[in-house]
Amino acid sequence: MLNITGNKTSNKARIWRPFTQEYTADPGLFIDHAKGAWLYTKEQKPVLDLISSWWVNVHGHAHPEIAQAIYQQALKLEQVIFACCSHQPALDLAERLVALLPGALNHVFFSDNGSTAVEVALKMAFQFWQNQGKTEKKRFIAFQGGYHGDTFGAMAAGRSSGFFTPFHNLLFSVDFIDYPATWDDDPAIEQKEEASLQQLKKHLEQYAGETAALIIEPLIQGAAGMRFCRPIFLKRLLHILQEYQIISIFDEVMTGFGRTGTLFATEQCCSSKDVSHVHHTHIDDHAHVPDIICLSKGLTGGFLPLSVTVVQEKIYAGFLSKQIDHAFLHGHSYTANPLGCAAACASLNIFAKESVQEKIHIITATHRQGMESLKTLPLVKNTRVMGAIAALDLVLPDHAYGSNFSKILARNFLQAGLLLRPLGNVLYLMPPYIVTKKELLSAYAHIKECLQSLEEGLVKEDQDI
Ligand code: PLP
Repeated sequence: MLNITGNKTSNKARIWRPFTQEYTADPGLFIDHAKGAWLYTKEQKPVLDLISSWWVNVHGHAHPEIAQAIYQQALKLEQVIFACCSHQPALDLAERLVALLPGALNHVFFSDNGSTAVEVALKMAFQFWQNQGKTEKKRFIAFQGGYHGDTFGAMAAGRSSGFFTPFHNLLFSVDFIDYPATWDDDPAIEQKEEASLQQLKKHLEQYAGETAALIIEPLIQGAAGMRFCRPIFLKRLLHILQEYQIISIFDEVMTGFGRTGTLFATEQCCSSKDVSHVHHTHIDDHAHVPDIICLSKGLTGGFLPLSVTVVQEKIYAGFLSKQIDHAFLHGHSYTANPLGCAAACASLNIFAKESVQEKIHIITATHRQGMESLKTLPLVKNTRVMGAIAALDLVLPDHAYGSNFSKILARNFLQAGLLLRPLGNVLYLMPPYIVTKKELLSAYAHIKECLQSLEEGLVKEDQDI
């Protein structure tokens, strides 16, 4: 008989957390429930979620409209195989995304998370050329520091992020271009952009015939430490890729759904419209549109795991043939899960009817005000704000991901009721759009106190030595 009750005593160490060295890590917060921008522990201690729960939450936790949409959908159809069936939530979501995305990005392939959205994009780009008999096109280009997820293709493209050292020997090789990271009042940005583009051109002069695609996180490299680049750089990049006939992949897993101030970062290199155009259909300027775009995280408003890889007509057409092996033979059990699609449609409804753009404007202005106050600290440099994201670099003796400094800081922030997870020496804030100006300003005041005490500690350490 199946033993379904189990016979082991309960053990706090049953779970194995992601991106965590369990040997040294703190036990972590036990979150009982959440509402708006706040998480609540079992003891009812409120914690302000300033990282949108790993960059997924958009309109606030437990949003009743999204919760209702999932509930209603679950009563109707919870899941069905998507290889030979379809359903209304998937059709609706695909239709709406296509209407919102720029240019001819008009075929939607579903999967479950950001990494698989990227994996799908890389495989599509590769097979597109194989289907055309261009079997020599096997190389990929990515940017130094970029992170695209942790499946094998995504790891290869994100090899230089520093997260995947144990796997290096298993990864296919990718060519890396320097990323022109910028911040407020950066005097060298034009030279950096020019250098990156020249490096790319030089590389393509030699290898364009062997190169399948280039992948980039548009406007912000997230896990690398919220490193910003300018829309003009992306425009020029797309121009070069078109000239050399290289497939362009924009990984908007993190930047999608308003984080950079527009619904998609991609729009900033083809138009100046903001998230309010969620009411309208197609953007007209088709000149600078990537061939493939990956979306996940904020897609369902942060409720359920879902992702899409959306491609331009010409990519889709490259798979149409009478041969089965020209088809994209890839899929997951939960592809286009109806609950996820219903949640995503509900989230888009909220974008359309609530003044989300207004909320993001207020967050941007508040970030600027907060960053001005932190700029005065000797520990702080390279402040930067874009849309709902603010970041700064800390001058610390150890810049590594998971360093003791970042752990101490995270602990101190938590004591002040703030959920923040510095990326090495980079401190960033990415709140859900429901956060108020008052909450955010109060968070900045606490952050300043925490940084001041860290600074005092460092000075004291120096004197003791
Ligand atoms: N791409 C980018 C730009 C990301 O930031 C991430 C995750 O942080 C991913 C891909 C992978 O997404 P997921 O963690 O959902 O697999």
